[in-house]
Amino acid sequence: MLEKYKNCDFGRCPRVHCHLHALLPIGLHDMPRQSTVKLYCPKCEDIYNPKSSRHSSIDGAYFGSSFPGMLFQVYPQLAPSKSSERYVPKIFGFKIHESAKLARWQDKQRMLMEERLKDDSSTHNPTNTTNNNGSVTKTT
Ligand SMILES: [Zn+2]
Repeated sequence: MLEKYKNCDFGRCPRVHCHLHALLPIGLHDMPRQSTVKLYCPKCEDIYNPKSSRHSSIDGAYFGSSFPGMLFQVYPQLAPSKSSERYVPKIFGFKIHESAKLARWQDKQRMLMEERLKDDSSTHNPTNTTNNNGSVTKTT
């Protein structure tokens, strides 16, 4: 397995900032017939779907969810340094202002809250009316 990793037999990371780092096979589950094999990049610590259709017929449990972790426990010198490079979104060369990110986050939170309120009013309608009645009688 070590030789296969060194020869990049399992492929290379598609992420630009990983600079084509070698991948390792990993299973999402340790029990068979749960999912097919995935590919793990130790540089970005993320997993990817294999490009090759040959991999889609291989069970991920053959490798298990612990394989890359165990490999780097045995060969700690092979563990790559983590990439600190990150893609920064830009428009015409200018970084997008932080307030734009905040506004998007606020819009999303508002939408989620509205959905939650809709769900609450549709499912708990009888209890809400009794609570409202109770609070009205207390205030008057
Ligand atoms: Zn990567």
